[in-house]
Amino acid sequence: MFLRENLVSTILISIGFLLPDFYLGTIAEILTCSIPLTTLCGVVGFSFILSFVKNRWFLGFILTVTIITQCIQLNHWAYFGTPIHSHDISKAFLEVDEIAETGAASFAQLWQVWVATCLSILLILIGLIYFKKRKRIPYCWVLVLLILCITPVLSYIKGPSFFYTKPTSSTIYNTIRAFSDWLVNSNSKVKAQDYKPYNITYGTSKVKNIVVIIGESISSRYMHLYGYDKKNTPFLDSLKNTPNFAFSRGVSSSVATTSALQLFFNSFHNPGFVSLIRKKDANLFRIAKQQGYKTFVISAQNEKLFHDTGVEFVDSFASEKDIKKDLAKKGDEALIDMLETFSLGYKNLIVIHLRHIHSPFDTYTKYYPDLAFNKQKTKDRETQTQQEYANALLYHDYWVKECINAIQKILPLDTVVFFTSDHGELVGERGLYGHNLMEPEVVDVPIWALAINTNPSHIAFAKNTIVSHYDLAKHISALMGATIINPNEDPKKQFIHSSEIYTNYQFMPWDKDSQNVTFLKKEWLNG
Ligand SMILES: [Zn+2]
Repeated sequence: MFLRENLVSTILISIGFLLPDFYLGTIAEILTCSIPLTTLCGVVGFSFILSFVKNRWFLGFILTVTIITQCIQLNHWAYFGTPIHSHDISKAFLEVDEIAETGAASFAQLWQVWVATCLSILLILIGLIYFKKRKRIPYCWVLVLLILCITPVLSYIKGPSFFYTKPTSSTIYNTIRAFSDWLVNSNSKVKAQDYKPYNITYGTSKVKNIVVIIGESISSRYMHLYGYDKKNTPFLDSLKNTPNFAFSRGVSSSVATTSALQLFFNSFHNPGFVSLIRKKDANLFRIAKQQGYKTFVISAQNEKLFHDTGVEFVDSFASEKDIKKDLAKKGDEALIDMLETFSLGYKNLIVIHLRHIHSPFDTYTKYYPDLAFNKQKTKDRETQTQQEYANALLYHDYWVKECINAIQKILPLDTVVFFTSDHGELVGERGLYGHNLMEPEVVDVPIWALAINTNPSHIAFAKNTIVSHYDLAKHISALMGATIINPNEDPKKQFIHSSEIYTNYQFMPWDKDSQNVTFLKKEWLNG
């Protein structure tokens, strides 16, 4: 029959392209995707044209691109619960080690993704290689290439706003849009924004010792201290009504670790004000140094996360690689042991950066297998994740208790301890998981402060109000004797910045009054 081989080849390639959507979306219900008629027609048409391609190199190229892009898309979607954003694609290539670790730990959720991917590749390969007698046209690859260029060209013409994820459409639709946008718009650097420089006045420091503990992926809404129904913060609860303790709902500046650290340590506020980070005008480590503080950073994570945070002003910096053995042996408690090894100065700024309770949340059970209020396993992902998350916060509370004891020993006088998390975490809200997504839950963090034998007025700012990372950074700076005045500040409006702050990123403004946060419509920096 005329074109019989081409038709069979078309059917196999089409099924190969659509299999992940059908299996993961309809049968296993791991993804929220579907196969709209437009996708079905597009895929069948594309596969039909592809079946006429003669050039093997070109076919190999198409297959490689499909495998890489769809692998990233499917794993991202299955893990986070939503299609990948073009801005997160570079991250996928840069953080391969961290992704591999999380991927391996999430194998129970992701194995079906890999099965679907392998079957999909197999079908496309059979369709292209096995049916050798299919009719082939010498320059047909040019036509395929032209078709593939349509979306990138449209992305280029229409700009980043052309790209929007569609969580109920097909993976192919989302992959083509996301990667096209990434390809043509990823180099769109932040345009110079017209901001006035910060005005910083220096005076006498108000407190001798400041300890800043930065948690990992901790959201306040799962802490008993903030009203969660399980009693998973007994130590913090015991401080709740003492005059030396203050806590408030916090709002982080970003949804990802690296940018959150960059923004916090640089007292960053206005979207796109990247020159502030370049110049380090309002950098907390720089201010500490200038005000005569000895500065220490101990991190249980990779040092590259501290890129552009001003570590050049830090006297003693230790990260994961420096304490790898101890971290493996006892987790974040290794950080507490480090405190006793410091040769402290007259005034000190100590930053402690945690690894717990990053996913997988139950890592701490290696050291404390019995520390949990509920160890029952359930197959429901949302219930199980929330349970593991709330259990991990019980460990976190224990860690805080141990850490405060150690701080009281080495710095018994004139000390203020601050705590916040780099960002929060989605644990099943609206079917979403993880961080990096520009969602209100991801910026929900705790902020608390403890005054150790010093004036309690130093922590009063965190009582019964909303505090942002920006507010906290300015307050710490003020305690060190440096008052930051930002002429570009709106008294009510603050901002959540994207996971990547050097390109034309998306940000989310929010309005704050003392008790409420109102998130406003997301905006792109360059319009
Ligand atoms: Zn983080």
